[in-house]
Amino acid sequence: MFATDTLAGRTALITGGATGIGLEIARRYAACGARVVLVSRNLERLEAAAVKLRSEGAEAIALRADVRNYEEVRAAVEATVAHFGSLDILVNNAAGNFYCPTAKLTPNGWRTVVDIDLNGTFHGCHAAYEHLKASRFGGCVLSIITMHAVTGWPGAAHAAAAKAGILALSRTLAVEWGGDGIRVNTISPGPIADTEGVRRLYEETGRADLERRRVALGRFGEKGDVSSAAVFLASGLAGFITGENLIVDGGRWLKYVAN
Ligand code: NAP
Repeated sequence: MFATDTLAGRTALITGGATGIGLEIARRYAACGARVVLVSRNLERLEAAAVKLRSEGAEAIALRADVRNYEEVRAAVEATVAHFGSLDILVNNAAGNFYCPTAKLTPNGWRTVVDIDLNGTFHGCHAAYEHLKASRFGGCVLSIITMHAVTGWPGAAHAAAAKAGILALSRTLAVEWGGDGIRVNTISPGPIADTEGVRRLYEETGRADLERRRVALGRFGEKGDVSSAAVFLASGLAGFITGENLIVDGGRWLKYVAN
């Protein structure tokens, strides 16, 4: 469906881009002609991912930043523009999560997840705004959330609340920044195989089979399911789509609510 020039000429900054879903989005963006910038805390892992992507033909660089720190995020954004000349797509993918019923959750655990997910997304959007506004393609913000932002998430209230905040922020920015030609959307993946998220939340806690049964399609998704949605939303094919939340969860949330 996507040609090798679907995202040609664009520069994409992907937080948490060295692992899991973020890395797969970076790989697909590069395969569609975008220059990609991987941003997170672990520089060694970032460099290794960028080297791998370059060996596959990508234009990719790695930059260290903790998304909880606004100045570090701003520096990564400015370094991106200094290196590639523009910033057209921001993917807020970095997140932290763990299973913990709320009564046992420490205020520090709560704060940490909200800080990475919600504050980190705000930092990225705010730091990137002027560059996204200047994009000749029209700027694009994509944030990776979950339908637990809407349904709630027993055992992960911290993440559900942070992702709900990202949904509200995204819908607000879609309106505030629409006049600047910036589209702001979210993607809500269901459980995705071979990711840290599934390993930590379902495999480590012995709940993988239960979670699989909760998906209408009866299986976990693939990272490529999410990256396909991310290419579409960043491309001109989605040029009139903003403020949208694209659900890529195999019917998981509908079945959960219906039951
Ligand atoms: P992952 O591999 O653990 O990726 C999380 C990334 O975030 C890591 O690369 C990590 O890199 C980065 N990160 C964490 N804290 C950071 C910080 N303070 N500053 C900068 N970067 C930070 O997770 P994943 O499972 O692929 O999930 C990716 C996204 O999809 C997340 O937003 C998650 O909530 C969402 N999601 C996942 C699933 C799933 O089934 N996996 C389902 C629904 C939604 P460093 O350690 O180098 O900082």
